[in-house]
Amino acid sequence: MLLKKKDKITKNYDVIVIGSGLAGMTAANKLARNGRSVLLLESHNKLGGFATWFKRQKGDHVFDVSLHGFPVGMIKTCKKYWSREIAQKIVQVKSVRFINPQFEIETDFTKEHYIEVLTTKFNLELEQVLAFFKELAEMNFYDDSGMTNGELFEKFFPKRNDVHRFLMEPIVYANGSTLEDPAITYGIVFSNFMSKGVYIFQGGTDLMISMMKDELIKNGVDIKLHSKVSDIVITDKKVQGIKIEEDFVEAKSVLSNSNLMSTVFKLAGAENFEKSYIEKAKEVRLNTSSCQVFMGIKEGESIPDIGELVFYSDDEGFNTDLILSPKVGSQTFSVYYPEIRPERGDRYAVVSSSNARYEDWTNLSVEEYNARKEFVTERALSTLEKIIPGVREKIDYIDCSTPLTVEKYTNHNKGASFGTKFEGLPISMEMHKQVAGLFHSGSVGIIMSGWLGAANYGVIQSHAVENYLSN
Ligand SMILES: Cc1cc2nc3c(=O)[nH]c(=O)nc-3n(C[C@H](O)[C@H](O)[C@H](O)COP(=O)(O)OP(=O)(O)OC[C@H]3O[C@@H](n4cnc5c(N)ncnc54)[C@H](O)[C@@H]3O)c2cc1C
Repeated sequence: MLLKKKDKITKNYDVIVIGSGLAGMTAANKLARNGRSVLLLESHNKLGGFATWFKRQKGDHVFDVSLHGFPVGMIKTCKKYWSREIAQKIVQVKSVRFINPQFEIETDFTKEHYIEVLTTKFNLELEQVLAFFKELAEMNFYDDSGMTNGELFEKFFPKRNDVHRFLMEPIVYANGSTLEDPAITYGIVFSNFMSKGVYIFQGGTDLMISMMKDELIKNGVDIKLHSKVSDIVITDKKVQGIKIEEDFVEAKSVLSNSNLMSTVFKLAGAENFEKSYIEKAKEVRLNTSSCQVFMGIKEGESIPDIGELVFYSDDEGFNTDLILSPKVGSQTFSVYYPEIRPERGDRYAVVSSSNARYEDWTNLSVEEYNARKEFVTERALSTLEKIIPGVREKIDYIDCSTPLTVEKYTNHNKGASFGTKFEGLPISMEMHKQVAGLFHSGSVGIIMSGWLGAANYGVIQSHAVENYLSN
């Protein structure tokens, strides 16, 4: 049931899920299907978390925020934990392009095509390339060699900055990984993406979330929007429920899809955890944030097919630190053609995304902040003009989001787009060992982030909740 803003919650529940990101929603759906009574609370006015969209100019333009691409595994996850209808809307991205001073390449982002490009365009030996893919495929959590991304590339393709760029650039854009991050995170993400290309949801994020909402309601989940949980109530190391301001709602268990750090330090409170756990939690690093420029093409205008994802860079060489800087010449364009929302007619939109550090956007005066936004906007426009000459005249809506925008709308510390780094995973997974009945799910470590990672982590944690409730 969808509760209204003014409704008082009087029932108690088996599980309260705080936050409706893909992890929270998937866990809620799974638990409700198991017959558990579930309350899903979301502070925002719509479900989805980062899986979101917005309309501008009275609905004339619709923009997707994080629908750029996810791995093929999302089809299986949606079929199994949501519905066949949702899974059937997932389609493959046809063309991914790289444009930079070192190379121009168009690919379908499959392993087969990568092997072809690496051997023909980059003139690498087939054995060398196959050995690299074999190493990626064999990587696993339990046998981590401790190698960094930089060391991995040097091992297989020494001194080939162009090859490192081709292999790493999409992943840096996608989640802010650097050459210093553990190679295991790269290996798993890359192997996932590379198996069968990149996929998106036909119909847009709005359709997917509305189908998921219907499914949640059908399975008996109570949903309440505009409900920012202020506290997780814990006595004697056991969860009792949650508070929305002064209103207490009782539950046997709570699964937080809020940011990991907010869950521990703000919602639950450090005093409820062992000292050693809190010490480790304090060391968890956040992933970077992002800037996006949303460009709406005027009704009646069209743009040529330039591919759905374009990794563009003016930088001569590849350097992950540079990609994260505000002055960088690199960005990704996601192009939305009429096929994405056919019911809207011949409409086009382009979204430029670049990784960004929160620190580069805070403590600025209003003038400095606006000037920096203008810089990012103009950079997106002038770069897009290099790919589609004359596009500027076709755009009748443009706006820029920054790490502060991300922080404002999602409550994520420092606007982190992909949650925490790898070390957040044990903190998240072991939360219930610290406080009985308290679970966490959501972007922790690159593998549990992104649309697929978050949804799958929701499933994993729903099993942990189920075990707790059954005992
Ligand atoms: C700009 C950008 C581009 C991206 N592009 C891609 C992409 O192309 N492919 C991909 O796979 N992934 C992409 N991602 C990442 C992906 O969207 C996220 O990793 C994923 O959606 C996160 O899901 P989550 O379950 O961790 O929760 P979130 O999406 O973080 O949702 C958490 C929810 O909890 C709510 N909440 C938090 N605290 C409270 C509280 N106290 N009370 C009530 N509600 C609360 C928030 O409002 C939010 O709705 C992108 C992310 C960004 C920011």
